[in-house]
Amino acid sequence: MSNIEAAPKEMICEQGPHGEGAAARTPEILEPRDVPLDGIRAMNVRRTLPQRGRSLIGAWCFLDHYGPDDVSETGGMRVARHPHTGLQTLSWLFSGGIDHLDSAGFAATVRPGEMNLMTAGRGITHSEFSTADTTVLHGAQLWIALPDHARHMPPTFESHRPEPVTRDGAAVSVFIGSLLGSISPVTAHTPIVGAEMTLWPGATLRLTNDEGLASSFEYGVLLDRGSVSVNGTSIGQDQLAYLAPGQEEVTIEAGESGARVLLIGGEPFGEKIVMWWNFVGREHDEIVAYRSQYQHEIGREDATEQGSPHWIAGERFGPFPDGQPAPLPAPVMPISRLKPRT
Ligand code: MN
Repeated sequence: MSNIEAAPKEMICEQGPHGEGAAARTPEILEPRDVPLDGIRAMNVRRTLPQRGRSLIGAWCFLDHYGPDDVSETGGMRVARHPHTGLQTLSWLFSGGIDHLDSAGFAATVRPGEMNLMTAGRGITHSEFSTADTTVLHGAQLWIALPDHARHMPPTFESHRPEPVTRDGAAVSVFIGSLLGSISPVTAHTPIVGAEMTLWPGATLRLTNDEGLASSFEYGVLLDRGSVSVNGTSIGQDQLAYLAPGQEEVTIEAGESGARVLLIGGEPFGEKIVMWWNFVGREHDEIVAYRSQYQHEIGREDATEQGSPHWIAGERFGPFPDGQPAPLPAPVMPISRLKPRT
């Protein structure tokens, strides 16, 4: 999915501060914010990553949670061809279906329980439209920053339908990385994990180092529905509970209506990234060149950055199948150049 903000800001994302000792067991609560949508789309999107003070959890750099939306009211997801660089996009649905088409030659339909992972590498364009049979659309869009050694790789696409693992009154679907003995075969370029967990009413799921909880990872738990507490702290709807590295055990306890959560985690990323609209790079000039090359390839603007070292010969974002809706133009970049935090 595209970052659908009308006027996205450029952000520097970096590893955040970690709590220490006993304090680290208590989660830091990250509040969701409603994404200001560009007029025509009525989808209800709540964003918990990136945010001021906490922009990365491992390599996870973006988390949008949307729906459940009645598509007869919202029109569903209609995101025409748009670009990405330097990241992987991960789609996970609770309800509905999304048709994906990309410039690396892949076409796929995302369905609940089946993860789609698109690796943008040096550059890709894709479109996403909810399927005609979707009545309720509900899911999450997550982005994973690629480390420097992988971010210029050719684009590719993978999908995986994890077999849920049942433990302590919970069903856990590990879509990337490994946990509870379940290993996802999709390609992660840094040590990370992502899973959906459905807990029965009153269930307590204990994740321990022996069962795959990594003490070197930081973690985030997003509440999708029901009620839940993480290490004894209760989490509200759409809040993301952040846990610093050093966890020996993480306890997720459902309330009397049960709960469904997403767990993300990873080793602190250690690289500073620059993110704007749908692009991830390492410096502002790179983002400017990506934007210029995309606008040029879709016939919107002259190739103003063609002399830039960040311009690549030939197509970065194509080719794309004919007969598709017109590509999304890139928003205007903010005038002021972002200064790195000191
Ligand atoms: Mn996208």
